[in-house]
Amino acid sequence: AVVTRFAPSPTGFLHIGGARTALFNLLYARHHGGTFRLRIEDTDRARSTQPAIDAILSGMRWLGLDWDGEEVYQFARADRHAEVARTMVEHGHAYRCYLTQEELEAMRAEAQAAKQPLRIRSPWRDRTDHPADKPYVVRLRAPTEGAVTIEDQVQGSVTVQNAELDDLVLLRSNGTPTYMLAVVVDDHDMGVTHVIRGDDHLNNAFRQLPIYRAMDAIEGGWPDPVYAHIPLIHGSDGAKLSKRHGAVGIEAYRDDLGILPEALDNYLLRLGWGHGDAEIISRAEAIEWFDLAGVGKSPSRFDLKKLENLNGHYIRAADDARLADLIAEKLGFDHDDTRRSILLAAMPSLKPRAANLNELAATTAFLFAPRPLVVEDAAQPLLAGEAPALLGRLHTALDAVHNWDTETTEAAVRSVAEDAGVKLGQVAQPLRVALTGRKTSPGIFDVLVLLGRDESLARIADHIP
Ligand code: GLU
Repeated sequence: AVVTRFAPSPTGFLHIGGARTALFNLLYARHHGGTFRLRIEDTDRARSTQPAIDAILSGMRWLGLDWDGEEVYQFARADRHAEVARTMVEHGHAYRCYLTQEELEAMRAEAQAAKQPLRIRSPWRDRTDHPADKPYVVRLRAPTEGAVTIEDQVQGSVTVQNAELDDLVLLRSNGTPTYMLAVVVDDHDMGVTHVIRGDDHLNNAFRQLPIYRAMDAIEGGWPDPVYAHIPLIHGSDGAKLSKRHGAVGIEAYRDDLGILPEALDNYLLRLGWGHGDAEIISRAEAIEWFDLAGVGKSPSRFDLKKLENLNGHYIRAADDARLADLIAEKLGFDHDDTRRSILLAAMPSLKPRAANLNELAATTAFLFAPRPLVVEDAAQPLLAGEAPALLGRLHTALDAVHNWDTETTEAAVRSVAEDAGVKLGQVAQPLRVALTGRKTSPGIFDVLVLLGRDESLARIADHIP
């Protein structure tokens, strides 16, 4: 059965690229009826923090990237990693290396002078005169001849000559495992069959495979995983996505940009993977359609406009009660705040216009603004000239309306325009400004109904001399 995993290092937030990697792993597993695991690679003790771990877990939950089983914490497995290293030493696939700092420095300098990359094949590879009390690291006895070929599901067939690899360190002199060893042991122990990750790890695959092969030779049951190295996300300028392109953390999309999780999921899915020309793809469809063959080989560029377009789509499709809850939260309303029901009633007329939740929240401001309303500068001219007189006539006409719905209020407003011999817009515009303080708003009759009779009449009256 297929087992995939997402293995973030908790050093900041859930990166947008990481979220996409997690999504691809989840979809691949679900498509094949397999398992999707989460491993927190918290071995960098200086940089791994609990808030960073929490940010990853909550970001994944928010995006619906639900992993199977308990998450695995890599640091807690250090003894197991060391055990594997010892087994490799016992069977001659790894060795104790007693090179000192000075000797390593000298090798480095020599390589530099010869303009060669440093590839360490330690003399201790073949020495048996081990000193008893000197510190040592454990190095892989890497094959020196031949080549390793990876049939990568995205990159295709990639070959590296073994002569280009070195005897990488598996255990440091303080006995702690290196990243290369920990990843392989954890992936094996978690039963991972498919390693789907960023293509910045492709080079690591060539260093990790010899560890699998050594252990497979020793005890069997360590088959090569299937690799799929997916291109990184780039910014609009074609450079690897980084902070200077804008938000890279998931929370920023939720909190600062007002993006719905299903919109971000859909966007990330389409970023680097395609299924014909489908743009709006539900989770169920994504599970049905996802495959690695559809993952592109070249990096895709992040496009905030596209994300906002998708977001607008998902806002229009979203349940009104859910949107009202999200907006209430943004506006800091308590659970029993009566303004929540006004928000709910306003959603159908407000949500078609919003590209993000912050915009949506901003367009609700007029509903709760205290009187007299602050009128935006751009709307001031609409209150000049004939406007006060027309607002006076509107007040009289609307004051006579008792059945306060969109049809009846519309009829009253139209009759005022007709009686005054002006176009509907000439009455509707000052009315809009009086009711909302702004030049643009949802449909004016919706606004009247949302504000209610008393509040609407009071706001109009504020503009009658
Ligand atoms: N922890 C690594 C990272 O965050 C990923 C390791 C892997 O996927 O093999 O880049």
